[in-house]
Amino acid sequence: MRDQRWGRMAGILWQAGLRAILPARCSGCGVITDTAHALCSDCWSVLRFISDPHCVCCGYPFELASDDGTVLPDGLLCGNCIRQMPVYDRARSALVYDDHSRDYILHFKHGDRTDMAPVLARWMMQAGRDIWPDAGMILPVPLHTTRLLYRRFNQSGLLAQALSRQTGLPFYPDLLVRKRRTRSLAGLGVASRRKVVSGAFEIRDRVAERVGLDGARVVLIDDVLTTGATVSACGRALKRAGAMQVDVVTVARVVR
Ligand SMILES: [Zn+2]
Ligand SMILES: [Zn+2]
Repeated sequence: MRDQRWGRMAGILWQAGLRAILPARCSGCGVITDTAHALCSDCWSVLRFISDPHCVCCGYPFELASDDGTVLPDGLLCGNCIRQMPVYDRARSALVYDDHSRDYILHFKHGDRTDMAPVLARWMMQAGRDIWPDAGMILPVPLHTTRLLYRRFNQSGLLAQALSRQTGLPFYPDLLVRKRRTRSLAGLGVASRRKVVSGAFEIRDRVAERVGLDGARVVLIDDVLTTGATVSACGRALKRAGAMQVDVVTVARVVR
């Protein structure tokens, strides 16, 4: 008992010591900054955070519409959602997906900056602030096992884990699985993307029963929302298995 306490104390002291010795670095580009896990002013100035007003359903930012000073009423839907409501209920993203946010996400995704997960998760906490209060569980969009081995970790899984820590919501990385390997969606249009991922996801019934998926409000976590084809395929599988609500929170989203 006493040894354990000493061990823990030594750990805390060691970490505090490290913090005192090592300078804090920008969590984006790595230059030395004043505060740990913060961004330097250069990184802040290039990242485009999505703010209100946005589509109540898919989160599409109405930046242009509000630029001329017109105040938009709450609860507006974007043209795409009016034409066809998505399978998921709501989607929110922290950043506009552009050259800058793509750099951040690529560093994170390809493993050299996994320490960015808590920072990205904090931005996602903020972006999904109307989603977290009634959420019941967090699920990462799964990778196929072969791609998982190749990349060594699932970036959505890391984000989901960090968000679970920050929100206190449970996260279940093995409830939703990718049952077949799908080709990369890069460069494909909406219809082809939908075709590639349709039916690619499956629910593990035993896990679903254990965690109470029936009637649950689920939050799906992914890095980038492009056309929404992947999260819609996941959402369809989840709703078919009894989920009552499927919301989506991503680091960035394509805006066009
Ligand atoms: Zn920086
Ligand atoms: Zn929309």
